[in-house]
Amino acid sequence: MKLSRSVKRFTVLEVSIIISQDQIDEIIQRERPRRIGLQAPDGLINQVLNIANDISKRYGVETIILLDTTWGTCDINNLDARRLGLDLIINIGHSLRTQKIGSYTYLVSAEYDVDFRNVLEKTATLLKKKGIKNVGVVTISNHKSQIDTCISYLNQLGFYTEKGIAEGPLFDGQVFGCNFYSARNISDKVDAFLFLGQSRFHALGVCLSTRKMTFMVDPFFNEVVDITEEAKLFERKAILSIYKAKDASSFGVIMSLKEGQFFRNQALEVKEELERLGRSVQLFSLREIRSDRLKILKGIDAFIETACPRIALDHEDFDKPMLSYQQAMGLIRLLKGQDIGDVFNYPFWV
Ligand code: SF4
Repeated sequence: MKLSRSVKRFTVLEVSIIISQDQIDEIIQRERPRRIGLQAPDGLINQVLNIANDISKRYGVETIILLDTTWGTCDINNLDARRLGLDLIINIGHSLRTQKIGSYTYLVSAEYDVDFRNVLEKTATLLKKKGIKNVGVVTISNHKSQIDTCISYLNQLGFYTEKGIAEGPLFDGQVFGCNFYSARNISDKVDAFLFLGQSRFHALGVCLSTRKMTFMVDPFFNEVVDITEEAKLFERKAILSIYKAKDASSFGVIMSLKEGQFFRNQALEVKEELERLGRSVQLFSLREIRSDRLKILKGIDAFIETACPRIALDHEDFDKPMLSYQQAMGLIRLLKGQDIGDVFNYPFWV
């Protein structure tokens, strides 16, 4: 797999990760910053220490590592750059179609160096047994440069393939845990989806957003997992949370302060609707929405967060019902005496 001439290779939990040194050099040489912010997902943060050291030595530039979590390109710090005196921020580990996001943040990809051939052969055997011939292929940014090779190999193995078609800044084939345009835009043409990578979180989302059979194609464990049944269970839990919130008389509606998770209009919409239905609502803002922070509040029966939908959907450690925006819309329909409707059949879950 060729990424670029100069790369940094790190091994994290026995998996090689390739970070493009060329990309970092090119940004620094072009922008000539005096002070750089660096950030990465937790799994890469120690590699970022090496990179910061290297940048300081080679370019004589001061670096600040932004140690807060960065879960995705939604979780960036353009608004903090000025007060930290940063000329730019290099975010390592997330990528999009575009390299720059906002006024300060440059995305540098980190890709797994892993071979998909064995697991694609396994996938082919399974799909043939199930009589599936047309497949849609999607992935995450850490396999960005492998998607086309995988598609060619699937074609050689006798499948008709469609690469996802993205919207906005995402590259074709890319999905987020809340953004499934890539899959939905080709859904009519395929019988099933292959999610390339080891993330149940993303594969479940593809399945629920498209309502198509979805397989997680995991090259690390060399296994192909039909995620469809798991998705049904996930959906049942999400619906159960809505019913638990139905009896609440007071709601906390939480807006995130994270730059790409700031959805104030949705929060105000939910507040207005619930108040019209006779519920009391207090608005909150919070950067990291965690159960320990909410535990200090008394007198709130249920919460709705309009930040990352996966906070409500994937975390079970909240003491009170916690709903995402789309779950809240289902609750509002229910409170109006309507059918709860489909809370997942959307390209974007906020
Ligand atoms: S699923 Fe959450 S963390 Fe991922 S891109 Fe969406 S808002 Fe960000």
